[in-house]
Amino acid sequence: MISKRLYYQNAYNIRFEATIVERVRDEGQTAVVLDQTYFYPTSGGQPFDIGTINNIPVTNVSIREKDEAILHWLDTRELWDDKISAHINWTRRFDHMQQHTGQHILSQSFIQVAQAETVGFHLSDNSLTIDLHTAQLSPTQVEEAEYLANQIIWQNRPIHIRSVSLEEAKKLSLRKLPPVRQGKLRLIEIEKFDLTACGGTHVSHTGEVGMIKVVKLERQNNQLRVEFACGKRALQDYRLKNGIVNQLTNELTTGIEDVVPSVLRAKEENKENRRQLKKQQEQLLFFEAAEMLKNSKMVGQTAVITRVFSDNECDPGQLRILGSHLTQNSQVVALLGLAGEKSQLLFCRAKDAPGEMNQLLKPALQILGSAAGGGSPIMAQGGGPATDKERVEQAIEKAERLLVGQIR
Ligand SMILES: [Zn+2]
Repeated sequence: MISKRLYYQNAYNIRFEATIVERVRDEGQTAVVLDQTYFYPTSGGQPFDIGTINNIPVTNVSIREKDEAILHWLDTRELWDDKISAHINWTRRFDHMQQHTGQHILSQSFIQVAQAETVGFHLSDNSLTIDLHTAQLSPTQVEEAEYLANQIIWQNRPIHIRSVSLEEAKKLSLRKLPPVRQGKLRLIEIEKFDLTACGGTHVSHTGEVGMIKVVKLERQNNQLRVEFACGKRALQDYRLKNGIVNQLTNELTTGIEDVVPSVLRAKEENKENRRQLKKQQEQLLFFEAAEMLKNSKMVGQTAVITRVFSDNECDPGQLRILGSHLTQNSQVVALLGLAGEKSQLLFCRAKDAPGEMNQLLKPALQILGSAAGGGSPIMAQGGGPATDKERVEQAIEKAERLLVGQIR
């Protein structure tokens, strides 16, 4: 039995009595089919209503595919008398009415301003979008459509519900004709502005939508996804953004119009500071190199330097700079390592020093459990997984022993 859909005629009534005509059990959940209902089931891009039946929460309302019966899913396993009384959550219902009616207004506005048709609509608790059949709109076109939509709201035009046959509907200039089906079509008419077929819940005058604000545009192939907010959601969005802007003006001690330039300036300063810091770190490395050179071990005529840094002391780029500082000196070999999230080995020598760096690297990398690296007799480097300092030191010691063998 198909339930009578009372919400088609009146979206404002939220209390009603009805009779249970079927009880459904599915995976431990219970649903009832009523002879008539004001509960809106998920369909046409609009989510379901919530509320209560005999004071028991209704957690979902869906349409059963085979016969289009409306299933009211209940947070209980109990079964009661056939007569029930129901209550619909008005906050959620009215939110859906505001957003959905706003969608009709905005969709028609985009047609009038830019001949951009709506091909998709999605409404959920935290998102409201339409997809326009156009790849691009200018910012002016978007503003014009948004402004037109708000004018329609301010004019508080009545919204009528009509019921016509498909033949009659074809003669009317509808914005959207649903897929062919039997019976009558339900049309929603925003007076002298928009006429479309729709099964959703809408407000009775455009003024109740409150306002419409386009929030974001996202291009998807040949379509443009428009995210927007109506009524209470627009207010919440404005509150959120106003709060952020006020916080920014306080933090930056500036006026609203200076927030963006201030942030850009701070970003630029930060970039410059990082550059300076890097430069100074490199100068420090230069001194570090001199110090390391003093403490090097002599193997024959060759000064051998070994050192392991942790990754918060030095990054791979700085390790290379250090290696190149050290090996600018005659008869120097540097065996350097980096321990931490990602381990690194860098072996290098002065052109006049002995040793085959690429041959030292492979056995040392094996200790780190890695084979990713290579190089020349003069310079070789490789990286491994996260490794502690002790293990990287073992790898360096291995390379040092091999080097001593090569030199002698
Ligand atoms: Zn609608």
